[in-house]
Amino acid sequence: MSVPFLPFSRPTIDEATIVAVADVLRSGWITSGPKVQAFEAQLSEYFGGRLVRTFNSGTCTMEIALRIAGIGPGDEVITTPISWVATSNVILEVGATPIFADIDPVTRNIDLDKVEAAITPRTKAIIPIYLAGLPVDMDRLYAIAQKHNLRVIEDAAQALGSSWKGRRIGAFGDFVSFSFQANKNITTSEGGCLVLNNADEARLAEKYRLQGVTRSGFDGIEVDVLGGKFNMTDIAATIGLGQFAHIEEITAKRRMLARQYFASFGPDFEARYGAQLPVADFENSNWHMFQLVLPERMPRAEFMARMMDKSIGIGYHYPPIHLFKLYRERGFREGMFPIAERVGRQIVTLPMFAAMTESDVERAVAAVKSVLQ
Ligand SMILES: *Cc1c(COP(=O)(O)O)cnc(C)c1O
Repeated sequence: MSVPFLPFSRPTIDEATIVAVADVLRSGWITSGPKVQAFEAQLSEYFGGRLVRTFNSGTCTMEIALRIAGIGPGDEVITTPISWVATSNVILEVGATPIFADIDPVTRNIDLDKVEAAITPRTKAIIPIYLAGLPVDMDRLYAIAQKHNLRVIEDAAQALGSSWKGRRIGAFGDFVSFSFQANKNITTSEGGCLVLNNADEARLAEKYRLQGVTRSGFDGIEVDVLGGKFNMTDIAATIGLGQFAHIEEITAKRRMLARQYFASFGPDFEARYGAQLPVADFENSNWHMFQLVLPERMPRAEFMARMMDKSIGIGYHYPPIHLFKLYRERGFREGMFPIAERVGRQIVTLPMFAAMTESDVERAVAAVKSVLQ
């Protein structure tokens, strides 16, 4: 009677991609090269011709965007407490001060009213994230940024394939950062990309990603900024190219699975079980995740353990960042962002990946209902 384990996420790599990676491995050129250039060109086309540079993570893309924007000590950057800790670690990394604004309990994204209230003369930038792929109100976000002369570094790590009023996330706006980590909608195993505004920013991005180096002629090497080692390999870019061929079908499949989740949970699920479903958005979201907020009576660890007994993997995205020790040491404490704390205590991520089937969704929903009964 044993049933196969259903993880909350699993990448799908097709055979053509595996063959293409083997070709790169045999080619004699395995670090950044023609495949990285081809992947950047493909991404640029996807984002309406905007300039794109790739990196070895979605974390360093945000750090580099902050550096390009000249943000550092004495500057404040507003972000959400409900994200992967990378989002605010990069603010600390450049020596700036993270300022959190609480989330909206329905979208679970940063509350733009609270962003506005948190702006001071030292605010230099906003880093919104689009949790589970659901964008914030992009018109409002950029109206706030424009009014207060702020840069925006969109942490769109989860939002590849998402859109806002028919425009792709990444095809407009200021800096837009994506991640290709293994759980994301498309992966390069590890990696990321940054959408930039102009050639000067792109040149700086190239410097920051490789030790600040500019090359010229046969042997010219100059270093004029402190860069790091953040370049993507041709191996990773080849995986990305293979994945990218399926972006439309991946997004369509996830939307279909999300619709199945809603149908299986049924219209009375929230009232009967006291759990909160996500916003039913089938226009903008890429359905990177399908997340429930559990009722207070159900401890999350118990829920996760009982789902595991039914061979279903449950994810946890995310613990409130301001309650980590590193952040408590900087003066943050319980009670500062009550909505983030409540959601962060009870949120769970159900299985959602392109290779899932209708019966996987039904199995997951039946298990959730039985555990919450
Ligand atoms: C995955 C993710 C990151 C980090 O991306 P990496 O590629 O793992 O560095 C940052 N922010 C959010 C919201 C993410 O989901």
